[in-house]
Amino acid sequence: MNEPVFWLDDKAIPFRDGQTVMTAVTAAGHYIPHLCHHPDLTPHGSCRLCIVQIDGRIRAACTTPAQANMKVTFDTTLLNQQRRQIVELLFAEGNHLCPSCEVSGNCQLQALAYDLGMTHSEFAPLYPQRETDGSHPDIFVDQDRCIFCELCTRSARELDQKNIFGISGRGSHTYLLAHSDSGKLGDTALTETDRAAHICPVGCLLPRNGNYQIPIGERLYDAQPIHIRGNHRPDDGEFTP
Ligand code: SF4
Ligand code: SF4
Repeated sequence: MNEPVFWLDDKAIPFRDGQTVMTAVTAAGHYIPHLCHHPDLTPHGSCRLCIVQIDGRIRAACTTPAQANMKVTFDTTLLNQQRRQIVELLFAEGNHLCPSCEVSGNCQLQALAYDLGMTHSEFAPLYPQRETDGSHPDIFVDQDRCIFCELCTRSARELDQKNIFGISGRGSHTYLLAHSDSGKLGDTALTETDRAAHICPVGCLLPRNGNYQIPIGERLYDAQPIHIRGNHRPDDGEFTP
C-alpha cells in the first residue's frame, strides 16, 4: 500500500503514522527553520521558527501531527517576515556580538539570521547582564547568549537521565540555572561526554577545549547556508568544532 502524503507548498511529503510535519519534511530531505527542535527529543514548540500555515491557521511544524492530504503552506513572505522578527527579537534579548563569539560561523541563530535576510534588529537591545559561570572544568556558560530553547534541559533529562539545567524568571529576567546547591555548573553531575554538554545551538554553553581550531570564515555556515546544510548536531557527533 502506498504511504499517505501531505503537501508542503507544491511538494508531496510521504509520512508514517506518528510523524509530525517537521519529522516527515526532514525525512523527505527538506528544511524547515528551527532552533528548539531536536530529532532525539520530545517536541517543545517554543521557538516558533517552524511556523507553517494549515487551513489558514498558523501552527508549529514540530508539534503538528502529519495528516493525509493536509495542505501545509511554508514559504510565504508573511511567514518569513514573522520568522525574521523572531530572530531579530532573540538578537535584541541577548548580547550577540558575533565577531567576538567562538561559535560564529557554526551558530544556528546567526545562520538563520543570514538565511532570513536579517540586516538589523527592529527591537531595542536589552543588553542583559547575567552572570557567566566558569566553574565547570569542561563547559563555560555565557548566559547573555542563551536563547532559552531548553535543548540543554531536555537533553540532560531525556538523554543523559540527569537533572542539570533549568530555566527560571520571566521576560527579560529569564535565566538559565544549574541544579546544584551552589547554583554553579561545576557542582552538578554534568560531564564532558553528556549530550547536554554539546547540544547548545548558540554560544551559551561553550566547550572549553578544542576551540578556535577552525578560523572564522572557514566554518560550517560560512561554506553553506543553513537551509542547505541543516541544523548541525554537535551532541551526536555529526559536527566537530
Ligand atoms: S551565539 Fe551566535 S548569534 Fe550570538 S554572538 Fe555567538 S555567533 Fe552571534
Ligand atoms: S544554554 Fe543553549 S541549549 Fe540551553 S537553553 Fe540556553 S541556548 Fe538553549
